[in-house]
Amino acid sequence: MNNINRDYIEDYIGGLLPERKGLKPMEDYAEENFVPIIQPEVAQFLKVILKINKPKRILEIGTAIGYSAIVMAENTDSSTQISTIERNDDMVDLANQNISKFGYKDRIKVLRGEAEDKLVALEGKYDFIFLDAAKGQYRKFFDESMRLIDIGGIIVCDNVLFRGMVANEELVDPRKATIVKRLREFLIYINKLEGYSTSIIPIGDGIALTYRED
Ligand code: SAH
Ligand code: MG
Repeated sequence: MNNINRDYIEDYIGGLLPERKGLKPMEDYAEENFVPIIQPEVAQFLKVILKINKPKRILEIGTAIGYSAIVMAENTDSSTQISTIERNDDMVDLANQNISKFGYKDRIKVLRGEAEDKLVALEGKYDFIFLDAAKGQYRKFFDESMRLIDIGGIIVCDNVLFRGMVANEELVDPRKATIVKRLREFLIYINKLEGYSTSIIPIGDGIALTYRED
């Protein structure tokens, strides 16, 4: 129960998803250690979007154990480069181990540090950006992402409905009130941006798909 979809819808869609064989150990590790990796239906969504968009340069904000970065590497061309930002040292080490295990050392580069510092130092354009870090700072990270995303590029933001709290005041945990308020403002902001088109998709914990027009 994540307060976004009815359980029977989630279970039904989940039951249709193809098996993700090699990724199972990472999924198990994440569950046992409470690492908030993308949900299977979000992984499937990324897979389809990446096959349509065929990005050559990908940027991720929030690596954790490298699960979503590996999903992105698996579903893009062997020449596609992925840079992913993570501030937690233990996570960086785990991610690097997993990336090596999957043979993606030459394609996925983990940038250790605070996203706010790392983002401003990045140059060149990216075709695909996946934003999955501190939710209270999405606006700041998104503004940097708009500087970095190429025309025709896509920005996907994870967890934008935050356990349903964003859409329903009754669900709001008072300790999360600030994050919820910021996410609501963020969603209004990205839905109004000129030159960009956004769609909010209620799968997983809610994702926002933003396309940069020319
Ligand atoms: N994308 C991953 C999950 C990321 S979980 C996956 O689906 O597999 C979010 C991660 O973002 C955490 O590991 C956290 O340490 C990192 N993070 C949160 N805020 C950050 C920030 N400001 N700078 C860098 N990393 C951040
Ligand atoms: Mg997430």
